[in-house]
Amino acid sequence: MKEKVFTFIRESVDGIVELESLLTSVPALAPESGGQGELDKAIALEKWLRANGVGDIVRMDAPDGRVASKIRPNLVATIPGKDDSARLWVMTHLDVVPEGERSNWKSDPWKVVVKDGRIYGRGVEDNQQGLVSSVFAALAFLKQGLVPARTIKLLFVADEEVGSKFGIQYLLANYDLFKKDDIIIIPDGGNAQGSEIEVAEKNICWLKVTTKGVQTHAAMPDKGVNAFVAASDLVLRLHALEKSVFTARDSLFEPDRTTINPTKKEANVPNVNTIPGDDVFCVDMRILPQYPVAMAMAEARKAADAIEAQYKVKVTFEVLQSNESKATPADAPVVGKLKQAVKEIYGVEAKAIGIGGGTVGAYLRKAGYDCVVWARMEETAHQPNESALIENVIGDALVFASLAL
Ligand SMILES: [Zn+2]
Repeated sequence: MKEKVFTFIRESVDGIVELESLLTSVPALAPESGGQGELDKAIALEKWLRANGVGDIVRMDAPDGRVASKIRPNLVATIPGKDDSARLWVMTHLDVVPEGERSNWKSDPWKVVVKDGRIYGRGVEDNQQGLVSSVFAALAFLKQGLVPARTIKLLFVADEEVGSKFGIQYLLANYDLFKKDDIIIIPDGGNAQGSEIEVAEKNICWLKVTTKGVQTHAAMPDKGVNAFVAASDLVLRLHALEKSVFTARDSLFEPDRTTINPTKKEANVPNVNTIPGDDVFCVDMRILPQYPVAMAMAEARKAADAIEAQYKVKVTFEVLQSNESKATPADAPVVGKLKQAVKEIYGVEAKAIGIGGGTVGAYLRKAGYDCVVWARMEETAHQPNESALIENVIGDALVFASLAL
């Protein structure tokens, strides 16, 4: 069976290009990016899958009043296997990011071009490489009338690029899709060797910090309170927490420490001779999992209290984003099985790693499901002339198929 399955995948270059071309031709942009969501793309994909023999497809629509269809679609295609107790899930997202500056593209971003073993177009890597790999892994069984050892579930979600509210978050809140022993792979990140299996991410917290002083003429500074000066001191104190408080190291991550970085700065007064009474900046905190977000918030507040006392200002925090994610244990079955498959297909010793944060894996882990983010990819996502190597689409499909054999 294995030889038949692998041969089918290796001989599927035309089909891979066909499906990539179809998907790229239907831009699926979030309303935040000026688009109408994923419905047209989901319909095109479902039609293509049905025409290719995938019969069991269920659509789960998240309501979203901002798009014309009022719908953000999610799809699950099921290929029944002999064992249904620990299914193989491959989760990919339908949405893409905008093309960006068009003049930086050598070809039409929405029309696939194939050159030197590579497919070019917006979305061909992020996330259609993984999507198409998962589809051809499944077709390798279906088209040849073979029943995989374990049930294969292909999950195509909406809204990954802008927060997953209408995608995996909606599904976790409204459906009971996953079982505890399922193997869940998210091919939406990885390196060119396929050697990194992402199992954890740092806790993340974004703060907007507003400092209120008293505006006055710069010739009479004592009549006011300079919010910019106070906020600047706070900027340094917050950054210094990296060294004074959050001293732990965890080699799973790169960098291996908690990072606290003041980032965005809003403009204050438009002229030079006014002491600013208001200051606004933002902080990006990536916290090692051993520290709860609440602890980072408490430390930030302590620093702000000291600034308030010293400068006679008022400092308020607004949480822009906060997410705590459990890790998938490095010895979880999904990690071991994937390592074995990667070794077999690519001859590479993959290792478990942690990243700075921001993948959909966090939502699944938080809900109690072990999942990994893995693919062999060149990381051209979101760039002009985004591309995917056809040999990676094939190789990743072989890896997925071998997990279902
Ligand atoms: Zn992606």
